[in-house]
Amino acid sequence: MTIRSKKDILSNICLLFAGLLLSISVSAQELSENDDPEFQRVAPFQVFDNLYYVGAKWVSAWVLETDQGLIVFDSLYGDLTDIMIDGIRELGMDPNDIRYVVVSHAHYDHIGGARRLQQEFGAVVLMTEEDWQMIEEPAVFQEYDKPIRHLTVTDSGTLNLGRTSLRFFKTPGHTTGVLSTRFTVYDNGFPHTAFMFGGVGLNFSGVERMDMYINSVKRLMTMGDVEVNIPNHPGSGEIFERYEILKDRQDGEPHPYVDPERFTAWLDQLLLAAEAKMIEEKAASK
Ligand SMILES: [Zn+2]
Repeated sequence: MTIRSKKDILSNICLLFAGLLLSISVSAQELSENDDPEFQRVAPFQVFDNLYYVGAKWVSAWVLETDQGLIVFDSLYGDLTDIMIDGIRELGMDPNDIRYVVVSHAHYDHIGGARRLQQEFGAVVLMTEEDWQMIEEPAVFQEYDKPIRHLTVTDSGTLNLGRTSLRFFKTPGHTTGVLSTRFTVYDNGFPHTAFMFGGVGLNFSGVERMDMYINSVKRLMTMGDVEVNIPNHPGSGEIFERYEILKDRQDGEPHPYVDPERFTAWLDQLLLAAEAKMIEEKAASK
């Protein structure tokens, strides 16, 4: 567009302002979309014989079915927790059978529904000591109902329920007590090693915390036998894209979630991003 007169300049400035206003209102809308249960609702689905997705569009919740009840990974928050509870029912399970809630870390989007699961279904909440302490402090991003302190998980601890066994890892950085879990999923009876890295985002600061994060990622890199990435945000592991492939899987085709190379490549990406941020953090701390 060529500008020929004062009037044109004025109208261009107006357009610029309109554009700015539009972008401001779009980002405000995006924020509320995260908290809007209608926008966030996803039909629940089965991914493995014993694992189901009952999360929202932007933050995950998973149900692991055992012969002695259900284990839930993360609790969503606010009205989004309804998505999980409804999802469990829609899949033919009973939320009263939730025995444990494994909370990956004490940010509202993972812990916010834990109190409700304690109250309504008598679920037992597990978290690390560091993150139990976090709930005594003001919430970092958004307030939530504080759960009653139940079980404290230590590094290399285990949880057994019926014939199911979980193994825990403390992988700090994103918070100082991020809890990661390793467990077995079954595809038509065939076992695969699954892993949930409990705190992926780099939305924190400080050299010390970055150091924790980098060490955590390096530690995960040494595990070597993880076949299935179970992310606690859909953005960290193509949850929905892989499910689209799974839905149309023919007999004999591989399970799209079983992808050890992609898990390794993802850890490489996380490490690169963390090391780049570390350089910035070190520069800022000088
Ligand atoms: Zn978080």
